[in-house]
Amino acid sequence: MSAPPEILLAHHLKQLKLPTILREYDKVAALCAAEGLDHVRYLMRLVEMELIDRERRMVERRIRDAHFSAVKSLDTFDFTAIPSVNKMMVLELARCEFVTRRENVIALGNSGTGKTHTALALGLAACQRGCSVSFYTAAGLVHALMEAKDERRLLKLQAQLQNVKLLIIDELGYVPLSRTGAELLFDVFSQRHERGSTIVTSNLPFDEWTSVLGSERLTGALLDRLTHHVNILEFNGDSYRLKHSKARRHAAAPKAEPEAAIETAIDPETGEILEP
Ligand code: ADP
Ligand code: MG
Repeated sequence: MSAPPEILLAHHLKQLKLPTILREYDKVAALCAAEGLDHVRYLMRLVEMELIDRERRMVERRIRDAHFSAVKSLDTFDFTAIPSVNKMMVLELARCEFVTRRENVIALGNSGTGKTHTALALGLAACQRGCSVSFYTAAGLVHALMEAKDERRLLKLQAQLQNVKLLIIDELGYVPLSRTGAELLFDVFSQRHERGSTIVTSNLPFDEWTSVLGSERLTGALLDRLTHHVNILEFNGDSYRLKHSKARRHAAAPKAEPEAAIETAIDPETGEILEP
């Protein structure tokens, strides 16, 4: 006795990786019958559903693979809070043509001004537009490189870093790097040069990058590559977190605390508001 056709069909659809058609074919058949649609339109509707779902699954997969520290978009970014940032440039970058052109982006400015938020939003936009993305903090990337070196899998990690369409390196500047660390980071920039796009965020102006990378020669060579095709975003302004927390505190307590008391409650290293 042969298996019922539903079982065989389910098996084949699984093998063909068409989970949406498998899930929906019965329901959609009933709908199409009720609407009097022929078999071609029925099939078309199912295939379209599979395509839409597949695109959504691929975006989700790219977002998972990117290892973003948080998922943020430009929809929640208030450009009026940071007038120094060129909004038109950010919106243009969110179209992700810079990734196709293999250009870099550097976001510079004080802590808490929205650099990471913007980098995450550009990363998300790139995932949605079909580009592979990897997100690291500078310290995290250097740690991963050193660990890979110790475990003799540096070449594999370097190949991955070289092949990703958009690499985001957040927070260059908070932690000074060891000599090996700086050299490994330099190699990443060198290997990606004109092969893929890189976004770097930093609290330090270029002339202070030597303090992180150690050597002036290395810093010069790194900046040379990074700024060859570059879009620079300047985040000059007050910390959004700080302003926000002031606003919250003012709202909570109409007789506001002196601002100096609030300012001292900020971690000078990370810009995080320290809980009282
Ligand atoms: P930075 O990386 O420059 O230190 P972040 O991007 O981490 O700053 O911003 C600090 C916090 O404030 C984050 O939660 C971020 O989402 C929020 N934030 C900063 N700027 C804005 C803005 N212009 N609009 C909305 N949220 C913002
Ligand atoms: Mg940041």
